[in-house]
Amino acid sequence: MTDPVSNYDAIIVGAGFAGLYQLHRLRDKLKLKCLLIEAGDGVGGTWYWNRYPGARCDSPSHAYSYYFSEDLIKKWTWTERYPGQPEIEAYLNFVADELDLRTDICFGQTVNRCKYTKDQNSWHVTTADGSAFSAKYLIAAVGCLSMSNKPVIKGIETYTGSIFHTGNWPKEDINFSGKSVGVIGTGASAIQAIPLIAEQAKRLTVFQRTPNYSVPACNYKLPGKVSKKYKEEWRSTLEIMQTSRNGLPWLEGDKSLQEISEPTRTKLLEDAWQKGGLAFREAFKGTLRDRKSNNIMSTFVKNKIAEKIENPEVAKLLTDFDHPFASKRPPLDTNYFETFNKENVSLVDLNEQPIKHATLNGLETKSEIFNLDVLVLATGFDAMTGAIEKLGVIGRFGTSINDFWRDGPKTYLGVHVPNFPNFFVLAGPGSPSVLTNMPRSIEFNVEWVGDCIDHLEKNGLSYIEADPSASDEWSKDNQNLANETLFVDAKHSWYLGANIPGKPRLFYPYAGGFPKYKAACNEAKLQGFDGLILG
Ligand code: NAP
Repeated sequence: MTDPVSNYDAIIVGAGFAGLYQLHRLRDKLKLKCLLIEAGDGVGGTWYWNRYPGARCDSPSHAYSYYFSEDLIKKWTWTERYPGQPEIEAYLNFVADELDLRTDICFGQTVNRCKYTKDQNSWHVTTADGSAFSAKYLIAAVGCLSMSNKPVIKGIETYTGSIFHTGNWPKEDINFSGKSVGVIGTGASAIQAIPLIAEQAKRLTVFQRTPNYSVPACNYKLPGKVSKKYKEEWRSTLEIMQTSRNGLPWLEGDKSLQEISEPTRTKLLEDAWQKGGLAFREAFKGTLRDRKSNNIMSTFVKNKIAEKIENPEVAKLLTDFDHPFASKRPPLDTNYFETFNKENVSLVDLNEQPIKHATLNGLETKSEIFNLDVLVLATGFDAMTGAIEKLGVIGRFGTSINDFWRDGPKTYLGVHVPNFPNFFVLAGPGSPSVLTNMPRSIEFNVEWVGDCIDHLEKNGLSYIEADPSASDEWSKDNQNLANETLFVDAKHSWYLGANIPGKPRLFYPYAGGFPKYKAACNEAKLQGFDGLILG
């Protein structure tokens, strides 16, 4: 399908939400010759690789959709309040078919080097199998949570059981029946997978380092009339999402918990908890900015969780939180805490008994030996930068992005990188991305990149790149914005790069909220792409 010697106007890497829309935008709106390169053998991105049991989105389905096309909104019907991985993968396949995107996607190719050549003002892109392509524009649409974080366990290569990482789950069904299973990690992925694995496994051992708050998902099948209403009301839903700090279809409550006295406060908390979902986090004003309000909410959630767990010692371990509620993205669960009441499930505190090494048949901790047929690593990702650094991007002065970002990622608007001309990162570090309902910030970034390229093409310009001082200022301002929130109180969070040994500690996503981010981008455009060098 692809001709390795041919030139493209634009090469996009990654066929998830971002890459698919970017291909459509550049190919069908700007009429550019585009190639999308994807490592998997299907579309989906995050939702192609994260097919572990229970994988499900935490944004409501009608919000977790593209909104750039009324046609797509009208033709697709979601079946559940929160879409599961198979349904999201099916949706992205539907979009790829509707927009006829597959003809310009090269599947099963892993990009391993992207080098800018000044003479030709082009990007030379090679893949693991030796194929080579070139293009004026290079767009990384590789996702924020796509580079798996694999813990270093001494002797793991000698372990004879099966190992799976939630972020790189095989396509075939894994049967846990009659097996002894270990899960390392208690983040969002583990919280979704554990209840389902526990239903099948003979024995399930969960290895926990830090407990996580979690809010009940309260998932349900969407009645036909509700889906119909969502389609009819899509414009007003979009308006709310564009105004919301997180791009979600509701706004933050107008009163803080501090302002509400008892017994009304508990009643309102209880009502919000019963509805479940991420809306609980936003039910009151300033929960992530005001410590006193957050304390009230954190205590409420802690008590609600503890009530579900029968064994007081297990309850203590599962609620010994080291961070304020929602300073890490709170997972949504279905029977996670109740799962620890089952006879076949046990919890190991890794602080009390750290893993010493793997054995032929499992794991040995400081005080116990665990024989495991299957080991599930639910240990998260080298978030926001890991997948970009894997592309082998080399910019204007022969500098690799890995070296340029050694002390932390430098971007302007979370999209442009100084000294990397015509290179664009979608949902990159310094953009709101992971703090939002992803499709909203992705659509905004894709359209921004489209506008930049359109401007260059219409004005006969060769390149666009970030001004180093604008990038420095953007990063500095972002750290200040983060310091005004309680996000920075979660000292071990991946938002701060703290889950990866040696990763620079700073706040990776943009902390000022989606509306403020859009305003900054729009203002830059109004000022003639202020903060960017065009040549
Ligand atoms: P995560 O939140 O980073 O959780 C990883 C877990 O593994 C943590 O419990 C962590 O413990 C543990 N861990 C990591 N390295 C370890 C080690 N060496 N030894 C022992 N334990 C270790 O990763 P995730 O659960 O995959 O979720 C990542 C993000 O993906 C979420 O925050 C969310 O944004 C997104 N996500 C969303 C959904 C959804 O939409 N519903 C579902 C899944 C994921 P510590 O906490 O002590 O580091």
